[in-house]
Amino acid sequence: MGKIKKLLVANRGEIALRIMRTAREMNIATVAVFSEADRKSPHVRFADEAICIGPPPSSQSYLDADKIIAVCKQVRADAIHPGYGFLSENAAFARKVKEAGLIFIGPPEEAIDVMGSKLAAKNIAAEQNVPLVPGTQSAITDIEEAKQKADEIGYPILIKASAGGGGKGMRIVDNESEFEEQMARATSEAQSAFGDGSVFIEKYILSPRHIEIQILGDQQGNVVYLFERECSIQRRHQKVIEEAPSSILTPEVRKAMGECAVTLAKACGYYNAGTVEFIVDENLKFYFLEMNTRLQVEHPVTEQITGLDLVRLQIEIAEGKPLSVRQEDLKILGHSMEVRVYAEDPKNNFLPDIGKLMTYQKPQGPGVRVDDGFEEGMEVPIYYDPMLAKLITTASTRNEAIDRMIRAIEEFRIIGVETTLPFCKYVMEHPNFKDGNFDTNFIKNHFTPEQLGGKFNEAEAKIAAWLAVKIFMGKEKTTANNTTSSSNKSSKWKNRLHQ
Ligand code: ADP
Ligand code: ADP
Ligand code: MG
Repeated sequence: MGKIKKLLVANRGEIALRIMRTAREMNIATVAVFSEADRKSPHVRFADEAICIGPPPSSQSYLDADKIIAVCKQVRADAIHPGYGFLSENAAFARKVKEAGLIFIGPPEEAIDVMGSKLAAKNIAAEQNVPLVPGTQSAITDIEEAKQKADEIGYPILIKASAGGGGKGMRIVDNESEFEEQMARATSEAQSAFGDGSVFIEKYILSPRHIEIQILGDQQGNVVYLFERECSIQRRHQKVIEEAPSSILTPEVRKAMGECAVTLAKACGYYNAGTVEFIVDENLKFYFLEMNTRLQVEHPVTEQITGLDLVRLQIEIAEGKPLSVRQEDLKILGHSMEVRVYAEDPKNNFLPDIGKLMTYQKPQGPGVRVDDGFEEGMEVPIYYDPMLAKLITTASTRNEAIDRMIRAIEEFRIIGVETTLPFCKYVMEHPNFKDGNFDTNFIKNHFTPEQLGGKFNEAEAKIAAWLAVKIFMGKEKTTANNTTSSSNKSSKWKNRLHQ
């Protein structure tokens, strides 16, 4: 162990930039790796050194473990931060990093291994008396037996891939007649998507809230919990809006969940940052879902309400330092909201969109934080996750954080791709969201694409008019050689104006 002097960030976009910012504050030199699609990205420019590691597809760049480790040695960096996604939950990668004599900024590989399997994780949770969603605790091998179990649990049930993640590998089964067919599909999908066909069943909780606990552990065996984040506003079982603290937890339930998370972390010899995910029902009963063994996308809301820099703590832990925070010193300071700004069209089933960011102007002002990896003029590449930015607002109360978010969303100008911003504003203004009266079915219960139609605010209309003029002038200049691209753009504007 020992002090890290040079850090390679094995990731891209907003999270690469976010990690490097903390490294710089700690006087640690930074190395970016990038694919050919990201040559002009801000994370590449920000780094002290940047190395191209291959073509755009992640399998040939950001997922090429050997290449990344070779680059790390070549530039004499002493540690690798994997961010989230890509290699962050790959135990074999963590092992290789260590075998190369480098520091992996994350948990021990044994813990990644165990928690990477939802089934293994459930078994540890059961041993530790952490409550589980009713279901099977081993992979299904016998269909008849599984059907019987499903009957006992009661429909609807959920078939889940043990190796699943990112909202993928889940199938809802409403009644027995669909069981066999769905089981066959789930197994083959799990095999092709995750290379592991193991599936299990869980009761499908009808009105759940997704609430997760952030934990931090050091290599000396100390573990603390940094309270909860609620991430119930989801599409395709993936989070779009997160907040801390949750609007429904009582101090007692918060403490009970936090202590369960700490117990679980200790049971698998965990250190570094991790998240224990739970589902909470109407009676505030909570059930363990899974553990994510990495820094989470939504970690900023926890930073905002605790005043801590999670990346700094991750680096210190990886250096072998004992935790500098004690449970009894931790306090919730205010309320923080995060919306994920995805290049997706909420009016069209959240279909990913690509294009050029013709206008990209971020909101500013009190209590606003934007974590992003894009700039005006950049193209949104098709190869990666379509998240453009995370917009985070913090205030002393939940209502103020919501008002601030609405203001910040109105200030955020993105033209060139469709984004989730209008949807997020809709949620912020919804009485059920404001009242804390919602669950993971919010979109299904309260949202239709029409709700975003017609609501055109004046500021947006002005920009539209301005852009129309700009496009018109551009068209005048380019008519001779290229009319198609500019006329496409203006037709997009027409669409917008008539919504
Ligand atoms: P968080 O729980 O931190 O919000 P997400 O579930 O949104 O994380 O996933 C974080 C990132 O990791 C996303 O880019 C997501 O697409 C990716 N990801 C997580 N698990 C998987 C998986 N098993 N397969 C593919 N991508 C995954
Ligand atoms: P992933 O690895 O894809 O993140 P999770 O097990 O964390 O998988 O589940 C993702 C989301 O799916 C949860 O946040 C929740 O909305 C939904 N979900 C998972 N399990 C259940 C369940 N048993 N009942 C109802 N919803 C569930
Ligand atoms: Mg999850």
